[in-house]
Amino acid sequence: MATLDLAVAGLRPHKRDALRELGIMSLNGMFDEMDGVAVLRQATEHLLPGDLAIVSSFGADSSVLLHMVAQVDKSLPVYFLETGKHFPETLDYVETLKRQLGLTNVVALHPDAKDIARFDPTGDLWETDPDSCCHIRKTEPLDEAVKGFGGWVTGRKRYQTAERGVLPHFELTSDDRIKVNPLAYFSDADIVSYKLKYGLPEHPLYAKGYKSIGCAPCTSIVAEGEDPRAGRWRGLNKKECGIHFDFNGAIAKPMANQELNLFKDGAFVADPFHSWAEGDDAGSVSYTHIPLAVFVENRDAVLANPHPVGLLVSPADDVMAVKGDLDRFSSIAINFPAYTDGRGYSSARLLVERLGYKGEVRAVGDVLHDQIQLMRRCGITAFVVKHEPTKKALIDGKLATVDIFYQPVGLTEIPVGTRPFLRRAVENA
Ligand code: SF4
Repeated sequence: MATLDLAVAGLRPHKRDALRELGIMSLNGMFDEMDGVAVLRQATEHLLPGDLAIVSSFGADSSVLLHMVAQVDKSLPVYFLETGKHFPETLDYVETLKRQLGLTNVVALHPDAKDIARFDPTGDLWETDPDSCCHIRKTEPLDEAVKGFGGWVTGRKRYQTAERGVLPHFELTSDDRIKVNPLAYFSDADIVSYKLKYGLPEHPLYAKGYKSIGCAPCTSIVAEGEDPRAGRWRGLNKKECGIHFDFNGAIAKPMANQELNLFKDGAFVADPFHSWAEGDDAGSVSYTHIPLAVFVENRDAVLANPHPVGLLVSPADDVMAVKGDLDRFSSIAINFPAYTDGRGYSSARLLVERLGYKGEVRAVGDVLHDQIQLMRRCGITAFVVKHEPTKKALIDGKLATVDIFYQPVGLTEIPVGTRPFLRRAVENA
């Protein structure tokens, strides 16, 4: 089979993306739903040879994907997220599968010791903030490991959760990687019969009622007939650890001792973004708002940066300078250094109304109670608020309202002029 050459030299990135998407769509149509080995072979031998990692939890179903890996190439890199919270039986199972399947390149990924010391010194973050616990123990180590790869292989299946119900064999991620899901169409029964057919060893806890196995504190036994994943984060509104979220589903960064300052969709939420810092590298930062001037100077490096990034617009910046690159940014932060400086409103309107930017537009800087409705009118949907009275007003739902507009925006606001009788006419209407 011919190599699918997705690196089309000389094309601007968004055109390349369109071609990649087309390539992904046709790839998804090429394979029999159940032929996971063919999917894996296509990915490892043709699509991304030498540039693909396997990620495995070594949980209840992991032997199926790993058996397929062993058929294709026993030396493929297999990453195991060693969170430090696994059952001892899982660690034994890693050794069992390595030995039995002959896998020669299984690598354990550990969380950064500095993150653990800072955010989870007592080891109970899973209890108070499981999203952050998964972030430092799984997402961050995996992000670091897969940085050097063009894609990675997962063992996810459609039947597992409603969110996975449309999972294809090949996915294109927003950071320009390809995720390969050879088992996407396997049912629970298919997994069982595959294990039987090839005599694969069961996870030692499977027979004890653990049907989906992750970290020990967050995994429980499921009852007969219960959804196998019901035993994961039982009682919490959490279904994924976060390693499979793309930007729009980004989970919280570690939040221990972190104040919630981002107001979005009616609540203060964890902010996945960092501020740009002196010495940051535009080509490798992740979840950072890159100042517009830095972006212009380092455009090629930012476009080649594999991570989600945002853009920081200052009052004197001309957003038209980046109009062709807006789809590179997951979020745009508009700086209001003083409440008297209104230039950010114009930038927001240009981005949203004229340039059609669809991502998050957030206000940062001197964001005060009275400005929020005005900012919303200009297309700003998120607010980084540090002013305590403003925070309280937002939490209490007590925002100042304005209903007379001398400078209407969009198509729905009607100018009323400055004359008192015109204002009275609108007020009495
Ligand atoms: S599954 Fe639980 S213990 Fe493991 S990283 Fe996530 S929250 Fe922490």
